[in-house]
Amino acid sequence: MSNNISTKLIDGKKIAAEIKNEIAAEVRQMEAEGKRCPHLAAILVGDDGASKTYVASKEKASSEVGFTSSVYRYPETISEKELLEAVDFLNNDPEIDGFIIQLPLPKHINESKVIEAVSPSKDVDGFNPVNVGKMILGFSTFLPATPFGIQMLLERANIETVGKHCVVLGRSNIVGTPMANMLSRNAANANCTVTVCHSKTQNLAEITRQADILIVAIGKPFFVKADMVKEGATVIDVGIHRIEDKTTEKGYRIVGDVDFDNVAPKCSHITPVPGGVGPMTIVSLLANTLKAYRENNK
Ligand code: NAP
Repeated sequence: MSNNISTKLIDGKKIAAEIKNEIAAEVRQMEAEGKRCPHLAAILVGDDGASKTYVASKEKASSEVGFTSSVYRYPETISEKELLEAVDFLNNDPEIDGFIIQLPLPKHINESKVIEAVSPSKDVDGFNPVNVGKMILGFSTFLPATPFGIQMLLERANIETVGKHCVVLGRSNIVGTPMANMLSRNAANANCTVTVCHSKTQNLAEITRQADILIVAIGKPFFVKADMVKEGATVIDVGIHRIEDKTTEKGYRIVGDVDFDNVAPKCSHITPVPGGVGPMTIVSLLANTLKAYRENNK
């Protein structure tokens, strides 16, 4: 196996750019036919810096592919009733194909209630229970953005999934749980044998070492060490953490859940952080919006 790290990198930024170009070409075609462009909206509550950054990057990606985008901003003090009314407004606006609610919401708002209020036909984040149920049954639906992005990443990087042992580290509703479901299905870019690990898992390293494909969504910087990874495995690092680094201009750098420098030499393929899963999450949202547009404009 090559020890040249660059040959092992799964370049999420490059793959995301390819998919964005494909989406942009479709949008140009719609424009040429005089059709309305897809419209992705976002609801942003409060002043959280990370949430504002995420919404801004979604807006930027939307405009890059020619979508219309809009952000509905509300103060931290918005009541649950007012927010549900805002959701209802977007559900009923025929010009909006899909929208997301940037999470987390303030503590006084019941997040599940708001997610359930989003019309399943506009739920491009794939968080509404109706769409989660469809995903589990293998029906056509909006797949949750991060696992959808990882599946596209595996496909475009030509990583074989059929019959492979995939270990998913983490079982959150937005990453680990849907990822495990999607990769275990009898479908394209799936058919893995999947093991899900979480904070109560015993002998964790023994299990992760069995993985042909190790997907790490644990939320702890540098958690996965070299001795937890099998020689030749593919490692997908979902984690995003800002850690202090006085040697950089900004005073910080972004790292993942995997101890990249020590793990990469053992892998056949690995995603970097940043530039791996992150760009694919946003592209999935664009792909879901295009799907919503097509389905709502049949
Ligand atoms: P989360 O909701 O915090 O879930 C973390 C999971 O890891 C939980 O299932 C937890 O188990 C498990 N866990 C925690 N400590 C563990 C340990 N010591 N051993 C084994 N399992 C352990 O996280 P998330 O929302 O899935 O996000 C994970 C990471 O991905 C975060 O860094 C987040 O910022 C990042 N993220 C990135 C993207 C992207 O686009 N790149 C998107 C989403 C999230 P329990 O269930 O038992 O508590």
